[in-house]
Amino acid sequence: MKIPHQITLPGHYRIRIRIVTRSQAKLFPLLDRDAYASWSIDDRTIYLRKSRTGTDRMEDFLHEMEHAFTDWKDYFRGRTEQEGPCAR
Ligand SMILES: [Zn+2]
Repeated sequence: MKIPHQITLPGHYRIRIRIVTRSQAKLFPLLDRDAYASWSIDDRTIYLRKSRTGTDRMEDFLHEMEHAFTDWKDYFRGRTEQEGPCAR
């Protein structure tokens, strides 16, 4: 399996995945520079490091997806409270 470029969860909640080199890192102010990987709720992006091996990067991705999923749950719950639950 390859790491996807983006994932859209219900409610049009789009998660972007960026694989960033060391020299690109400064271009992304929301990336946590000290971490192997990070999730930023502000731009709904998972940042992964190009320098990590494929296996490690996949584990980083799966870990950050848990954070993204947790934030999506709050988002979706909030939307549901505003709009009422869907009929189907
Ligand atoms: Zn974490």
